[in-house]
Amino acid sequence: PTIRELLATGDRSFSFEFFPPKTPEAEEVLWRSIREIEKLRPSFVSITYGAGGTTRDGTIRVTERVAQDTSLTPLGHLTAVAHSRDELRSVIGAYAGAGIRNVLALRGDPPGGPRQPWVAHPEGLNHAIELVELVRTLGDFCVGVAAFPDKHPEAADLDFDARVLAEKAKAGADYAITQMFFGADDYFQLVERASALGCDIPILPGIMPVTNIKQIHRMAELTGMALPATVTDRLHAVEGDPAAVRAVGIEIASELCDELLTGGAPGIHFITLNRSTATRQVYLNLQGTTV
Ligand code: FAD
Repeated sequence: PTIRELLATGDRSFSFEFFPPKTPEAEEVLWRSIREIEKLRPSFVSITYGAGGTTRDGTIRVTERVAQDTSLTPLGHLTAVAHSRDELRSVIGAYAGAGIRNVLALRGDPPGGPRQPWVAHPEGLNHAIELVELVRTLGDFCVGVAAFPDKHPEAADLDFDARVLAEKAKAGADYAITQMFFGADDYFQLVERASALGCDIPILPGIMPVTNIKQIHRMAELTGMALPATVTDRLHAVEGDPAAVRAVGIEIASELCDELLTGGAPGIHFITLNRSTATRQVYLNLQGTTV
């Protein structure tokens, strides 16, 4: 099924995001996680698209294997970074050839990292909107896009971000998935701003339970994600005890998901970092409450 069809049922969507592994050991970890997640019968699983050439092939390979060897519905990410239009057409063709109908159309971060200036490929695309249009012209794909509750680092303000999202929807995006965030209100305000612009596509919150304090500070610095004191205080209170940090991180994510679903979010997209245990625990906590 397409994600558009899954979301149209009105049932809550639960999905899990993985990245293509770089070593045989990491490959084993990934497939163990995917098999564990498969037991939960999620709505779909997504595979990210890396900045380096090797993980790009990995994205197609892992996405194809999910389609062929599992009962899961795969979503392949795709970015415009360092690709000409012809190369993008050929990647989209590879997805179609593997029977993959769900594509997440992204601009991608500059090769030097999210804080570097964006440089388009001379024969490539400048914005995700153009990639949405390109994917749409190449076949019957269901297309998702990115959204940013804490504002994209390059966007002037939150209103501009909402306008970009509305334009992506106009260009043919069926739904959006957000960057990870911690404030439920930031998500609901994004939904409201988009809706005020006539953009009513489903917006799935992207959630990552914190299992490591250093990592979360680094991600916040890179992506511009807000780290509320209510979150950092709880984590820093148990800083010296890795097991407690993990437990508190799972608790914080579970509370956030509960608030989002109760407030009307159409589902949750979990960022797993290829280890399934923390996100599975959050998912199971929700089963006990709002799911
Ligand atoms: P765009 O929509 O093009 O936006 C980029 C910037 O340009 C924004 O500041 C926007 O406001 C501005 N902008 C957009 N359109 C216009 C316009 N017409 N005129 C002027 N300004 C404009 N990265 C990867 O490399 N691989 C992945 O697999 C990946 N997966 C992701 C999954 C999710 C759910 C999310 C939220 C992000 C993901 N990213 C991934 C990161 C993403 O590629 C970066 O956040 C990137 O910087 C922005 O991508 P975008 O698709 O939102 O770009």
